[in-house]
Amino acid sequence: MLSKVLIANRGEIALRILRACRELGINVVAVHSTADRDLKHVRLADESVCIGPPPSNQSYLNIPAVISAAELTDAVAIHPGYGFLSENADFAEQVEKSGFIFIGPRPDTIRLMGDKVSAIAAMKKAGVPCVPGSDGSLSDDMENNFQIAHRLGYPVIIKASGGGGGRGMRVVHSEASLHNAISLTRSEAAAAFGNDQIYMEKYLENPRHIEFQILADSHGNAIYLGERDCSMQRRHQKVIEEAPAPGITKTLRQKIGERCAQACSEIGYRGAGTFEFLYENGEFYFIEMNTRLQVEHPVTEQVTGIDIVREQLRIASGEKLSYQQKDIHIQGHAIECRINAEDPETFLPSPGSISLYHAPGGPGVRVDTHIYTGYQVPPYYDSMIGKLIAYSDTRDSAMARMRTALDEMIIDGIKTNIRLHQSLLTDANFLAGGTNIHYLEKKLGMS
Ligand code: ADP
Repeated sequence: MLSKVLIANRGEIALRILRACRELGINVVAVHSTADRDLKHVRLADESVCIGPPPSNQSYLNIPAVISAAELTDAVAIHPGYGFLSENADFAEQVEKSGFIFIGPRPDTIRLMGDKVSAIAAMKKAGVPCVPGSDGSLSDDMENNFQIAHRLGYPVIIKASGGGGGRGMRVVHSEASLHNAISLTRSEAAAAFGNDQIYMEKYLENPRHIEFQILADSHGNAIYLGERDCSMQRRHQKVIEEAPAPGITKTLRQKIGERCAQACSEIGYRGAGTFEFLYENGEFYFIEMNTRLQVEHPVTEQVTGIDIVREQLRIASGEKLSYQQKDIHIQGHAIECRINAEDPETFLPSPGSISLYHAPGGPGVRVDTHIYTGYQVPPYYDSMIGKLIAYSDTRDSAMARMRTALDEMIIDGIKTNIRLHQSLLTDANFLAGGTNIHYLEKKLGMS
């Protein structure tokens, strides 16, 4: 097993990784910006290194600073968490070239899946169902582009191959606006992602977002841990996630899950990963793969009983997966509410001092957070300050536990979105299950 791991992240996920390391007897190095000296995991780590000033590009995204910290502390491996450098193939490559283990897939796999045109081509080849589209990037031959759009049928969506975070996409409703949309998306993609490759897909009008969690070791074994429904979104940001996805049958889960696991074996995938799909009218359509741990991994942990971070650490140390597919059983239901430091009406970030924090508890309640009474939420980073997870034997009782937990949770001194979650947890359509990706924005009157 790895002897010492450097956690190249902050907040709740850094604490989550520290906890998994502790269980395996791994020493922990925390790196932090000057704004983050008081983070819980920094206090709990065996060693900590300050890597720069508050702005991420001078600290958490500063590759030489992170690698120097690993050298300084004799860490053997680096866990990137999510966000920051987690899907940066150049970082993974430099980590490995400097003699450390990158806790994630090989750099070339990150590169392959980070480019959506090549990712879709690889998935199609592996038999994963994809959105009908341009089969490769678009050229400047407008005659050909019109033909592709005509074949798919309007509306279509133009997407940047190097895009991410819900940016670099444009929906086109008619032939009249296709030309303009293609040139605008291309120039935006070049400016934002340094890659002007774009592609076209059929625009699905009312899909749900359903994703499959996989684990693969470096010995060619790959398994799937079922799916999560993450359709409750605002501006492409997930707000609530749950597992399993309402209405997905065992047969369908097995069919898509096996395809994903098979695709992992074919591309030599290593570590934890997520296949994201849009789901409409009973069909799954692959949109992208995330080659890292996801924010919402706890709901899968609750329904499978598997510690995904522990598996990541075991895989990185060269061990075989602890489980075979036949060992994986989905039991009960789990829901996660992302707790953000933001105004529940305007959604503006609300950093500041937490004057009082009380965690909810009781059977089936899990809180993944780094906050404590007296903690200062800095203004420099993502507004998510924790995740509240409720688990029970049925979806209805998991919802009931979540309502009780939300009522119990006290975070004073800053504004949070707890009220928004309380209103969603009593929303009849959400409670019925299966709402689509536009539901929350429609409810909020945004579209
Ligand atoms: P990103 O990497 O920026 O998150 P994705 O390809 O995952 O990009 O797409 C983000 C979101 O955009 C999806 O969750 C969905 O809401 C919407 N979207 C993307 N492709 C389509 C499509 N073909 N039809 C409908 N909506 C889409």
